[in-house]
Parts: sequence; structure tokens; C-alpha cells
Amino acid sequence: MKRCEHCSKTFKPNVSYQIYCSEVCREEATKQKIAERYQVLRTQKRIGKKRICLGGCGQQLSIYNDSGFCANCNIHQKALEKMLKQLKGFIDYEQDN
Ligand SMILES: [Zn+2]
Ligand SMILES: [Zn+2]
Repeated sequence: MKRCEHCSKTFKPNVSYQIYCSEVCREEATKQKIAERYQVLRTQKRIGKKRICLGGCGQQLSIYNDSGFCANCNIHQKALEKMLKQLKGFIDYEQDN
């Protein structure tokens, strides 16, 4: 028996090099790796660029900031998003342009 590297379930491998219990876990793990790599690249692209908070407060953001808002404005933005979602139902703010 082996332990799946994605979900930690034990499984019986069909081939000796199999590390995931199922096709689903393999795909999920691959997606996760791509997402992680994308995240790193996205962060690296920000080095040397000046990013200012979208909330209009003028604060400079760190390269690790994903929301586009400083911690202070982020709170307001979250509240605003929640309000808008309640008003219009589903609004895709997660989309990364
Ligand atoms: Zn699994
Ligand atoms: Zn701000």
C-alpha cells in the first residue's frame, strides 16, 4: 500500500511509480503545482514596480500583496464586496485580469 501525495489516503498502486490514489488526485495536484508556480511568477513580476493601493490612500503595496489594497483599505473593500454580492448576487471579483 502507498499513501496518496495529494489526499493522504492509502491506496494500492497499479504501477510502482504511482504517487496519487486516483486520476482526480493527480489532476488536482498538477493544478495546484501550476497555481503555485504562477503565484511565484506573479510575485516576481512585481519586483521593481511601484504599486499603489487601489483604495486611494496612497500607500505603497508589497510585492506579496494580491488584493491590490493595503491592509487598511482591504477591510473596507471586503465589506463593500460583501454588500455588492448581497445586492447583485454573484459577482466575480476573484477574476484576475
Ligand atoms: Zn488521493
Ligand atoms: Zn489603502
